[in-house]
Amino acid sequence: MAYNDQNIFARILRDELPAIKVYEDDQVLAFMDIMPQADGHTLVIPKVPAETLLDLPPEAAAYTIQIVQKVAKAIETGLDVKGIVLMQLSGSSAGQTVPHVHFHLIPSSIHELGRHAAQMGDQEKIKALAEKIKAAL
Ligand code: 5GP
Repeated sequence: MAYNDQNIFARILRDELPAIKVYEDDQVLAFMDIMPQADGHTLVIPKVPAETLLDLPPEAAAYTIQIVQKVAKAIETGLDVKGIVLMQLSGSSAGQTVPHVHFHLIPSSIHELGRHAAQMGDQEKIKALAEKIKAAL
């Protein structure tokens, strides 16, 4: 399916919509999930326009996973957590709701994961968590 450049994450990448960002370079952006499944739930997205992991050029996938690892380390250190669930939903059948490929980093256990994209988080609390992650990057 053709990439829809009006999706929420494409608009965040163009700074048309706000986001609580923790990391950005010329290829990747990491920002806090607005409806976190656990405290510190962070999203990492490549800047190339790709809808799912299957559409992502291998070079972009390889670079993005390096940043996923970097941000995961900062979450672990900055928020003093031990386990992080890495989740990637490709396709609406898998539950993907935003059609721009993204990696979820969720400081939680698979057995305690909150519901997906279910409830708006407290944005002030999320900002404070983001500051701790940024400080550890
Ligand atoms: P998906 O279902 O596509 O794997 O995940 C999309 C994620 O994006 C969900 O976890 C949801 O909470 C999050 N999300 C949806 N809209 C926004 C938004 O406007 N800003 C941010 N920061 N996250 C969003």
